[in-house]
Amino acid sequence: MDYFKKLEKVITYNLDRRGMEGVNLIGELEKAATSLKKADTVLIVTGFVIKDKLFGETDGPIGTVSVAKALKMLGKSAIIITDIYSEKILETALELAGLETTLEIVDKYDKTDFYEIILDKYKPDCLISIERPGEAADGLMYSMTGECISGLVPSMDGLFKEAKKRGLCTIGIGDGGNEIGMGKIRRYVVDNVPYGDIIAASFATDYLILAGVSNWGAHALVAAMSILFNKDLLYSAETGEKLLKAIVNVGAVNGMTKQNTLTVDGLGLDENIKVFNGIRAVVEEYMVSRGHQTVTKG
Ligand code: ZN
Ligand code: ZN
Repeated sequence: MDYFKKLEKVITYNLDRRGMEGVNLIGELEKAATSLKKADTVLIVTGFVIKDKLFGETDGPIGTVSVAKALKMLGKSAIIITDIYSEKILETALELAGLETTLEIVDKYDKTDFYEIILDKYKPDCLISIERPGEAADGLMYSMTGECISGLVPSMDGLFKEAKKRGLCTIGIGDGGNEIGMGKIRRYVVDNVPYGDIIAASFATDYLILAGVSNWGAHALVAAMSILFNKDLLYSAETGEKLLKAIVNVGAVNGMTKQNTLTVDGLGLDENIKVFNGIRAVVEEYMVSRGHQTVTKG
């Protein structure tokens, strides 16, 4: 029974609406989770600004908290990096999850050696991007509808390029083709996604997890880690719901509708819970097969 393939299948929900249903990345999830085995310190970058609202979206931070919490449960350290638009969202989500971790806010992106400083300071073994705008072929960053967001939002491509130079492992999680890591399927995005020729991100991470919503890709990574480490690391659907409510309360917006509602990428709470429960079910099936009691924890 291939649990990883099951997880990869669950998170394809909604990909047809993004023009992404034809991508084949089978095996990437397991490889990404395996690469975290040897890592002690992991940097996670997230936060996608919505230009009209000058605020971050609901997709990304929830998945980030999910991964950071799992890493902590394994005794690893997670450092989260975002920008001013998603600062309040991350602060709120981390507090609600009871997770004490370093939150680094990038605002001095004009400093050319900023990324060297960050990597020297934290000495990570691995970098993960969860729904973070990535530079397209022209070096600029775009929303899914082709609006340029460069100049507004600090580029974190430099961090990943420097990490690659240093031989660190990199993982990308995205849903639309314009996020860091999508260089791995750039040709597909250019040919199949609306505005793909403009928005397709150019940096290819070592491993790429594509999901109908990036938060699901992050939860699937946690589920894959749960299987590899033989320990249930995934929080409950209730916690996920509480996190979404809390970040919407402080202003997080839906990346598609640009509205401050209880939704992620145009999908309501029910659909998000349905997919989350699909991911949870795979973890529980594995745990039962190994003789563990399944307890839905916080
Ligand atoms: Zn996206
Ligand atoms: Zn998204």
